[in-house]
Order: sequence, then C-alpha cells, then structure tokens
Amino acid sequence: MGTTVSLLAPAKVNLTLDIKGPRPDGYHELETIMHQVNLVDTVHLRRLTDGIEVSTDSPLVPGDSDNLAYRAAVEFFQATGIAGGVDIHIEKHIPVGAGLAGGSTDAAAVIKGLNRLYAAGLDIKDQMALGARIGSDIPFCILGGTALARGRGEILTPLSPARNLLMVLAKPGYSVSTREVYARYDQGKVTRRPDTGGVEAALASGNLAGACAGMENVLETVTLECCPEVALLKQMMTDLGAVKALMSGSGPTVFGIFLQREVAEAACAIINRYYEEVFIVTSFERG
Ligand code: ATP
Repeated sequence: MGTTVSLLAPAKVNLTLDIKGPRPDGYHELETIMHQVNLVDTVHLRRLTDGIEVSTDSPLVPGDSDNLAYRAAVEFFQATGIAGGVDIHIEKHIPVGAGLAGGSTDAAAVIKGLNRLYAAGLDIKDQMALGARIGSDIPFCILGGTALARGRGEILTPLSPARNLLMVLAKPGYSVSTREVYARYDQGKVTRRPDTGGVEAALASGNLAGACAGMENVLETVTLECCPEVALLKQMMTDLGAVKALMSGSGPTVFGIFLQREVAEAACAIINRYYEEVFIVTSFERG
C-alpha cells in the first residue's frame, strides 16, 4: 500500500434540471442530467496514523472540519472501521458556490482516494452510498461521466457519455446558496421545463442540436430574480455564438455550448473582459 494518492476532482454541469414535486422528507424530487467537465480540483491524500487534517490553497473554502472533504473522511473511517488518518490538501480551481458541485467532487475524491490508500475494497455502489450520507451530488461525482439523477440526486442511471461537448463556463462575481435557492423555488413560476427524455435520447444518438433543444433548468426562475447577471450572461453567450446557454444547478454559473473552438475562445475572451471566472471546458475523460 502506498502512502499518498492524488486525484482529479471534476466539476459538473446540469444539462437539464427539473423538480417533480416536494418529498415527504422536505427535499425536492429531482430529475436532472449531470455531466462532468474538465475543470478540476486536485485532491492530495497522505496517510496518517490517526486524525484528519485539511488544507486548501483557497481562502473561500474552509480549511477545517466544515470542509466536505473532512466529513467524507470521517464517514469513510466510521463506515469501514479502519483505524487510520489522512492529511488532505485541496488545490482549488472550481469556483465556489457556483452550481458546479465543487465541494461534492472534493468529497467524492476523498472517498475514492481513501478506498485506494487503505485498500478498503468498497465497490462503487458502497462508495456512492457512503457519499449520499454527506451530500446529494456526491454519488454522481463518484460515478462520473454523464448520468440521469433522480430522487434527491442519488438515484443514478449512467447515460451515453456526452463526449467532446465544448462549453464556456462563466460565473458572476458572487455566489448563491443552493439551500436558499431550493427553499425559494415556486413551481407556479415555472414556464419552461426540460425535455429530459428527449435530451437523453438525443445524447444517445449523438444529436447535439436535439439535445440542446430540450435543455432547461427550472431553478433559473429563482436565481434570475436575485441575480440579473445570469440572464445577461445567457444573452452574451448566445450573442457570441453559443447554440445553447443555461444556468448550471442552482447557479449562478452559466454554461454556453459551442460548436467551434475558435468561436468559444473568442467568446471566452470577450466575457473575460467583464467577468473574472470564465473557462473553456470539454467533457471530462477519465485517464
Ligand atoms: P452544488 O453545485 O453541489 O450545489 P456549489 O458548487 O453551488 O455546489 P460549493 O462550491 O460546493 O457549491 O460550495 C458550497 C459551500 O460549501 C461553500 O460555502 C463552501 O464554503 C462550502 N465547502 C465546504 N467544503 C468545500 C470544498 N471542498 N470546496 C468548495 N466548497 C466547500
């Protein structure tokens, strides 16, 4: 067994996001297609004889037990009964509070990394179940690729990988609280819902135009009210050549889908004059 391991922890975007109704447990019944992109944090783990240490190069992320990565390590040691510890260092590149699952992907990387570091033998289902105890997006971050998520986000069906999907991501200079966005969701205000089945079928047949036609995010109704820049960014993306522009998750990050790299690069440069956090990404490919 080695004593260190480093993992790439990719961000996700929601190609569709629909809310089917309230659940008895107070959460919302979700239906969303999630997709990993190659904007990544790097998570370094080093075995310790005991204790959990967390550090990060970002001032925006807690460097203590409030970090989701810390909680993932606690759950791992509790669930496996392994006596050990870990030093976790997170190189943060994914914008924080952005709707890109930055914290969840770090936590997912810790579960996967500890499983390797301690040769714990948890299969992917065990790892996903462990992750679900900490946060709804973590099982997807463990599974990876492109997947349909239902329930609170933890019931996952892998989909045909949306390969080489070229996107520009842009985040306004503030964050939103996922919890608050869901709390303020009012289905009476929704006028456009995604065609989830249509997007799934279009992705399977490689029909990008068809997939784009069905993409919507019902949480835009909430975030657009408090963050007019989301609408502005969507408009900028389409004006600059995106074939589709949508908010990811609870926002405020907007992604634009582009067909040509030169067009995406030009759009990225222009948006970057007004916003600091702008990235060109494609689909995350493991290895
Ligand atoms: P999601 O898309 O899953 O709703 P998000 O991208 O909107 O998540 P995160 O970047 O995960 O939001 O951060 C949300 C909050 O979690 C922040 O307030 C942050 O301080 C806290 N947090 C805890 N651990 C981490 C981590 N490892 N990386 C980022 N944020 C973290």
